[in-house]
Amino acid sequence: MSDGRVIKVSGPLVVAEGMAGARMYDVVRVGEAKLIGEVIELRGGRASIQVYEETSGLRPGEPVHSTGQPLSVELGPGLMRSIFDGIQRPLDVIRELSGEYIARGLEVPGLDRQKRWAFEPVVSGGQWVQAGDVLGTVQETVLVQHKVMVPPGVERGQVLEISPGEYTIEEVVAVLEVEGTRREITMLQRWPVRRGRPVSRRLPPESPLVTGQRVIDTFFPIAKGGTACIPGPFGSGKTVVQHQLSKWADAEIIVFIGCGERGNEMTDVLLEFPELKDPRSGEPLMERTVLVANTSNMPVAAREASVYTGLTIAEYYRDMGYQVALMADSTSRWAEALREISGRLEEMPGEEGYPAYLGSRVAEFYERAGRVVCRGADERQGALSVVGAVSPPGGDLSEPVTQATLRVVKVFWGLDDRLAARKHFPAINWLTSYSLYSDRLDGYFRQHMGDDFPALRREAMALLQHEAELQEIVRLVGLDALSPRQRMTLETAKSLREDFLYQSAFHEVDTYCSMPKQYRILKLILAFHQAASAAMERGVALDRILQLPVRERIVRARLMPEDRLAELDDLIAGMSGAMPGREARSHA
Ligand code: ADP
Repeated sequence: MSDGRVIKVSGPLVVAEGMAGARMYDVVRVGEAKLIGEVIELRGGRASIQVYEETSGLRPGEPVHSTGQPLSVELGPGLMRSIFDGIQRPLDVIRELSGEYIARGLEVPGLDRQKRWAFEPVVSGGQWVQAGDVLGTVQETVLVQHKVMVPPGVERGQVLEISPGEYTIEEVVAVLEVEGTRREITMLQRWPVRRGRPVSRRLPPESPLVTGQRVIDTFFPIAKGGTACIPGPFGSGKTVVQHQLSKWADAEIIVFIGCGERGNEMTDVLLEFPELKDPRSGEPLMERTVLVANTSNMPVAAREASVYTGLTIAEYYRDMGYQVALMADSTSRWAEALREISGRLEEMPGEEGYPAYLGSRVAEFYERAGRVVCRGADERQGALSVVGAVSPPGGDLSEPVTQATLRVVKVFWGLDDRLAARKHFPAINWLTSYSLYSDRLDGYFRQHMGDDFPALRREAMALLQHEAELQEIVRLVGLDALSPRQRMTLETAKSLREDFLYQSAFHEVDTYCSMPKQYRILKLILAFHQAASAAMERGVALDRILQLPVRERIVRARLMPEDRLAELDDLIAGMSGAMPGREARSHA
């Protein structure tokens, strides 16, 4: 513990003297108002403190008290359904305590101390356990079973006492004997946010995080435990993409971190998320969601912390063996907070005023994603997938935050406001987007879809790229300059765009497309292309081909209910037969 005095206040940055006993990243209480802050620089007894609350009115000479603890989050039942601020204060509780405008210096625990949870042991007395082992479960919400784990640090212990019952998170649910001493276990754990939670080992990505969105799953897939980045020009459909991912991605737990700039951006999140339904269960999506939201009256520094608060909560559920998806919107706002603090620390600025360590901070953030073998003897696996939105000013992807992000993430979904303006949704540009997981996941797709899946995707992408070149020619010299084959390419590319890439988030059937269905629609469009090309070789006129009734069925394929995919198989199998015969062929 260490008590010092404020000597300088510069926005969210406070410098204090007499802090020789403090350590880096210790949480401190600043001033008479006991504002919450964190030591981010220490030189002798002089500490620079990032304060997570408004510092106006704070004066030199006011006391600074170090808690001796790093910034930590509380982990235990009650996280699901919560809406926290950047330092894990539940927004509803602080609002109750202080009204709409959050009072400063409020210390509110992250988790409810009164609530009782029904604890069901899964181990019994006498059993040996180690860190990460599940001691028992709690039905946290209708959708989430919480696993109460032996906390990190306990290498090996024997269960002395454990019994079912209703407990608060601070009551002892089990007693272990660890190296001859009694160790009481509660359902509440704490973990310092800036340190990743330990795992047994990391695993390479292996299967896709299926989102039910065709352009993502087929063309630019993200692996379970993978990383992706999505730029969000205003009105380009970023919110809809994020909602679709939250609702449909085959993740069990969603953590959404909102670092909004303007107050209303955050209000949207706070209003919209609680309205979303989990499509598979019909329950509110919040039953398996944690929201971390920086409210507009919290200073930028809190955004900096919010990212780590969210990550740590996400890792905790990963450790239970869950598939977790974390979304951060937007990481650019977080980077701006870094820039502001760095500026006030008078550090040597890098590109566009961002600190030189921007790249390493961004990398550390995404490196906490991954597929892992969790701690614990059962070797269960969990995964944390991370999707970060960036908001490049003016859509300029060469700016530092986007560049730093693209250097580390493996997937880029390039939202394009020109596509959105043309009402092509999701407005993910197929020419600029990429996934570095495609090759790795091809084994999975081959096995689960069909051996030809990678080839189909390549063929479709080649057609779309060819379309872009042909469109350039058409722009310059007109459609007449194209050969019938080239015109056929344009027709197929259009079909790929409208019947495959386009996907309405608001259509009951179209909103989610299973992988088997995606595979079949793609195959159908390309089967038509091949059969049509062969017919043209035989001399059939393009116009005749374009009038074939089967085209209408291709258009409707994306609206085909999932239980009628066999009809798509029939269409594919009958494609050659649906082409006009050989009558047009000239006799040799
Ligand atoms: P942003 O968050 O980028 O400002 P939104 O996600 O709110 O943009 O999208 C703007 C509008 O675009 C939505 O209100 C909706 O009408 C339309 N839109 C976006 N994505 C889709 C989609 N996948 N399907 C249908 N409409 C969409």
